[in-house]
Amino acid sequence: MTFEELEIIEPILKALDAEGYHTPTPIQEQSIPSLLLRKNLLGCAQTGTGKTAAFAIPILQHIYTNKNLKSGFRDVKALIVTPTRELAIQIQESFTKYGKYTGIKNTVIFGGVKQNAQTDALRRGVEVLVATPGRLLDLMDQGFISLKHVEYFVLDEADRMLDMGFIHDIRKILAKLPNKRQSLFFSATMPLDILQLSEKIVGGNPQRVTIQPEQTTAEKVKQAVYFVSKRNKPKLLTHLLKTEEYETCLVFSRTKHGADKIVKFLKGAQINSEAIHGNKSQGARQSALSNFKSGETKVLIATDIAARGIDVKELSLVINFDLPNIEETYVHRIGRTGRASASGIALSFCDTDEKPYLRGIQKLINQRIPVIENHPFIGDVEETPARKKPAQSNQRPKRKPRPGQEGERKGHGQGTRKNNNKRRRDSNRPNSTNRSRSRSR
Ligand code: AMP
Repeated sequence: MTFEELEIIEPILKALDAEGYHTPTPIQEQSIPSLLLRKNLLGCAQTGTGKTAAFAIPILQHIYTNKNLKSGFRDVKALIVTPTRELAIQIQESFTKYGKYTGIKNTVIFGGVKQNAQTDALRRGVEVLVATPGRLLDLMDQGFISLKHVEYFVLDEADRMLDMGFIHDIRKILAKLPNKRQSLFFSATMPLDILQLSEKIVGGNPQRVTIQPEQTTAEKVKQAVYFVSKRNKPKLLTHLLKTEEYETCLVFSRTKHGADKIVKFLKGAQINSEAIHGNKSQGARQSALSNFKSGETKVLIATDIAARGIDVKELSLVINFDLPNIEETYVHRIGRTGRASASGIALSFCDTDEKPYLRGIQKLINQRIPVIENHPFIGDVEETPARKKPAQSNQRPKRKPRPGQEGERKGHGQGTRKNNNKRRRDSNRPNSTNRSRSRSR
């Protein structure tokens, strides 16, 4: 299958060619034909599948073929709402890339920065608006945006939206949209509350597309786990960053504080890195991200929320300094490497307390992650292969995490699996709720 066969128009084909895209990804192949027929779409897919182009291409094609762009003022014809600023910026960049020969204008709005540049762009007129919910409503209230002419509405990463507490904002936005429109709804998971929300947006009979990148990604990525004590994790990370070969390395920390600590100790070891997380200003996050994309900073430390949507083509190494307490998050993390045709490496550190997480992850991905048994910092971790070896001189008795310690979760490591499951919420998620998330794929 080619993009020509999907009946993509010439100006977009030219842009795709310039990007080096020759074959549509599965989600593009499955979505584009029905989107061109103006059907609503319910997509169970996540970033990394080529999802953005799957909706951006047909939207651009419709706007291009239905409007004389040279005449009159540009109304917002397409609205894409996405939970994070990083994701919003990347979606806008995609519209710019794929639409560069169409003359269609776009802009992106998000909170945390002054609004002037955003309102200036809106005043000049755009057909495509990419937005995070809060700033969108804010600028709508101030009269800078009208959704009256919206014909295409995309709700992106719906599950994450709900986790971040955006449900009321979404309802308010929906109330302002024209009833006659094409709607697209994307979510990585489809628990009941998400399905109910989707029905309000795409109706009862949308085109359904389910793409499971997890397995394919997980298969492409070489994975390994190091059993290592909390205390030795910094040493192991320093060692790996000095000995592994990589173009760029993304290190995941479960907490914002932990991310800052990693930057500090790496600095002590003369390894330059930057952290990206929710406590950093928007400016600092953007500059860290662009330094990383340009290769100026080779090591980026991120929390899960901040890392969502980070799209770096050359990302070759992912290190899980902490294992995530939600199994799916592991798959999202390692999906940052090994994208498209590239293959990548994902290395995880697992201390004693994290072993239940490792078991959960292995169950989800349905494979055993190979253990690196031979590393210099194998120490006081119980049940590791090294423990079985005699004469481990640097073994220390197992310590319980102290209150306030990095990654500390109340009672963590001592509770039952059931109790641990109850707490499996990512501490980085603002307004996270305890919705149960049944995966219905
Ligand atoms: P997304 O899921 O939209 O974040 O896209 C994931 C990555 O795949 C991005 O780096 C895109 O630039 C890239 N991509 C999207 N479509 C294609 C394609 N048809 N061929 C090659 N790469 C693609």
